[in-house]
Amino acid sequence: MSEIHLDAVSKRYGETTALRDVDLDVADGEFFTLVGPSGCGKTTTLRLVAGFESPTEGRVRFDDEDVSGVPPEARGVGVVFQNYALFPHMSVAENVGYGLRFSDPPGDESKAERVEHLLDLVDLDGMGDREPGQLSGGQQQRVALARALAPGPRLLLLDEPMSALDAQLRERLRLQVKEIQSELGITTLYVTHDQEEALAVSDRVAVMHDGRVEQVGTPRDVYHRPETRFVAEFVGDNNVFEGTVTELSVSPDETEGSAVRVNVGGETVRLGVDPAEPPAVGDAVTFCVRPEQLRVGSGENRFTATVERTEFLGEATRVHLDWDGRSVLLRTTGGVAAGDVEAADSEVAGVEAADSEVVGVEAAD
Ligand code: ATP
Repeated sequence: MSEIHLDAVSKRYGETTALRDVDLDVADGEFFTLVGPSGCGKTTTLRLVAGFESPTEGRVRFDDEDVSGVPPEARGVGVVFQNYALFPHMSVAENVGYGLRFSDPPGDESKAERVEHLLDLVDLDGMGDREPGQLSGGQQQRVALARALAPGPRLLLLDEPMSALDAQLRERLRLQVKEIQSELGITTLYVTHDQEEALAVSDRVAVMHDGRVEQVGTPRDVYHRPETRFVAEFVGDNNVFEGTVTELSVSPDETEGSAVRVNVGGETVRLGVDPAEPPAVGDAVTFCVRPEQLRVGSGENRFTATVERTEFLGEATRVHLDWDGRSVLLRTTGGVAAGDVEAADSEVAGVEAADSEVVGVEAAD
């Protein structure tokens, strides 16, 4: 198994810059995901690691080894693409065996034993004689995974492997992929544009935007502590506001500077801040509050908004509010709170934000 390092990598295609000065470090055995909108450079990054492309600047290392000049088949990487790329007229077992065309099976397994072992690992034992056309999309993708793993690669690279599948199948398959990855302990680089998928499977995530890495962190980090407005808005629903700090608030049970009052369009809200880096009075700040961190109530820390519409989502209700021209999303699972805000145009007495739950106060540029 291996670490993956990208050192100051840029990639240009003629006039197009796909990657700008990207540094990434993926730890041994880690499930690391590149997530971001279409065109942000995820696939280019994966292709550079696979060896299908070379960096225009910078270098790619596996552990301490610079692999820049090493061709894909000699890098020891297993790759799974979105479209399976199985051979339709070969059996499932032959497709998996095709993964061994450049190398012998690892350990002392024979080729046939290795194929059987892999089919068992991806839960397709007994299906080796079928042709891919006789399998479901999810099963075909598991064949592609088995083929990629057959030679015992040092890295597993997956490029949007679920995107051709329907939602339910995607959820099942991502759990299976995660289980297989944990069982093998193989360093995995996973590409998806689906932020929920990224949060669900990854040890760490790199959020990419316009050829750059905006933030690297655990799923909880990027969700609860977004470092940029882009990350706050891309990873899950969010409410992003701008305001001016009017006072640093200190109460007996708080560390000095751990909360501030912020004036947003004439109303004041109280926010928790990182005591290590509190903003100063008069600072313009951008802050975000997740929809599930707001609730309807009559507490002290509230603003007044108007209900525009509600969406019943089954397990929760998403309420679209207007706060003096600002769009606000509130998510509630509580029947009572949902009842309070059901009618469009009704004024919500107060939308509360508990300061301990408010995330990400960032000084504006
Ligand atoms: P998607 O989710 O749509 O696949 P992505 O985040 O994977 O997007 P990339 O495929 O890495 O993005 O593309 C990044 C940028 O580089 C895009 O602007 C794309 O048009 C450009 N690009 C990628 N490959 C090439 C190529 N072979 N020639 C020219 N431009 C390219």
